[in-house]
Amino acid sequence: MKHSKEERSLIIMKPDAIQRGLLGEVIRRFERKGLKIIGMKMVRISDVLLDDHYSHLKDKPFFASIKNYMKSAPVVLMVISGVNTVSATRLIVGPTKGYEADAGSIRGDFSLSTQANIVHASDSVESANDEVKRFFNKKELFDYTKPDAPFIYSDSYPDFKG
Ligand code: ADP
Repeated sequence: MKHSKEERSLIIMKPDAIQRGLLGEVIRRFERKGLKIIGMKMVRISDVLLDDHYSHLKDKPFFASIKNYMKSAPVVLMVISGVNTVSATRLIVGPTKGYEADAGSIRGDFSLSTQANIVHASDSVESANDEVKRFFNKKELFDYTKPDAPFIYSDSYPDFKG
């Protein structure tokens, strides 16, 4: 990362996004915001990675159900990058419960469920760094310049070169 305020976020397009044909819709919302996609792949998430990723929920009664749901189809993993990426992506995604999420957010537009809520996005800079390392190795992340950055960030971050 070239800029001190640049952040990454791990995005997971969950099994319901694939089953419902919503991958393009989800990717499009991050792209049109101006965020940079620096990694993307399709995987079936292993038990080990799920235990790690959802360790904060391991004592919840719905933990086994989340794991079954996350393993029910492949997922698409994406790393996105930009200034203030974490807060911007959480707003684009919306809160956990799809039926309470504002229209215009991904969950608000496409989910009526708490569990099947289409997408995961890292909730802090610290967890983003851990999550990116959990799912991607260095060779799977790409460093390139996005030439529209001066129009996207403008006077807010004039020294950010994309
Ligand atoms: P978020 O994904 O919004 O950051 P959490 O980290 O609290 O939310 O939960 C992780 C995921 O676990 C949620 O996105 C959802 O798929 C599932 N989940 C959370 N709470 C529940 C619940 N009460 N019942 C079923 N699934 C849940």
